[in-house]
Amino acid sequence: MNRAVFLDRDGTLNREVDFLTDPAQLELLPGVADGLSRLARDQWLLCVVTNQSGVARGLVSETSLAEIHDHLRELLAHEGAHLDWIGHCPHHPDHGPADLRRVCDCRKPEPGLIQRAAAELNIDLARSWMVGDSARDLEAGRAAGCHSILVGTGNGTRTLEAMETNEQESLLATPDFKGAVDLILKDPIQPERA
Ligand SMILES: [Mg+2]
Ligand SMILES: [Zn+2]
Repeated sequence: MNRAVFLDRDGTLNREVDFLTDPAQLELLPGVADGLSRLARDQWLLCVVTNQSGVARGLVSETSLAEIHDHLRELLAHEGAHLDWIGHCPHHPDHGPADLRRVCDCRKPEPGLIQRAAAELNIDLARSWMVGDSARDLEAGRAAGCHSILVGTGNGTRTLEAMETNEQESLLATPDFKGAVDLILKDPIQPERA
C-alpha cells in the first residue's frame, strides 16, 4: 500500500485569499514546491483535499476551479514539483442550488475526500499525514485515521491561538510547509502510533 501526504490548498500550498476565483490569484507559499519534491523523492503520494464551497455559492464555477488547479500544477511543475491527486468539496450545508446545498461527507472536517483518495490510490491511512492551516484540516485527518500537522501559514497562527492549551500540547505544529516536510521525513510513523 502507498503512503500519502494529504494537503490543504489555501493557506497551506498557496497564499490565502478570500475566495480564490481566478488562476492569477494563485501564489505558491515559500518552500512549498521544494517540500513537495522532497516528499515525492521519499515515495509519498501528494493529494490535495480542499473545501471549495465557492462552487455552491456561485462564486467559482467547476470550469474555473479546474483552470485554477491546472495553473497550480503549472506553477509547481515550473519548480520541479507535482501533485498526484486533487479533490475538492463543492458543497455547502446552507448555500447554493439544491444539488450542492447539502450536508456531505466530503467537506472537511469530514474525512470523505481523504477516504476517496485512499480508495483510488490504495493508500494506507494509518501511515499517512494531513497537513493544513485550520482546525477542520486536522479534524479531517484525525477522522480518517491519519496523523496531522498544523502549519503556521494562512490561518495557522490563529488556529493555534484559538485552541485550548491541552489541545495545543497534543498537536504537531510547524511554522511553515518546510517544517512540516522536515517532520514527516525525519519522524517515520512508528508501529505503536499507527
Ligand atoms: Mg486552508
Ligand atoms: Zn462535499
